[in-house]
Amino acid sequence: MAMTPTPPAARCECGPEFVTGVQIVGEYDGVLYHECMQCRVRWHRWKEGTWQHGKAKRFVERTHA
Ligand SMILES: [Zn+2]
Repeated sequence: MAMTPTPPAARCECGPEFVTGVQIVGEYDGVLYHECMQCRVRWHRWKEGTWQHGKAKRFVERTHA
């Protein structure tokens, strides 16, 4: 299993200029997950099973309007 985080721009076709790394203060000192600022799709940076993935889960999987 690869140890590298999921690369940006992997979950939509808006283009890498819209992709931002989201940092949640108090959860993890760094990028916790990625989000497209245009279509609001979010995806994990970290592999399932890592504690960072566990922290990101409630943000990434949150349903939004
Ligand atoms: Zn997008």
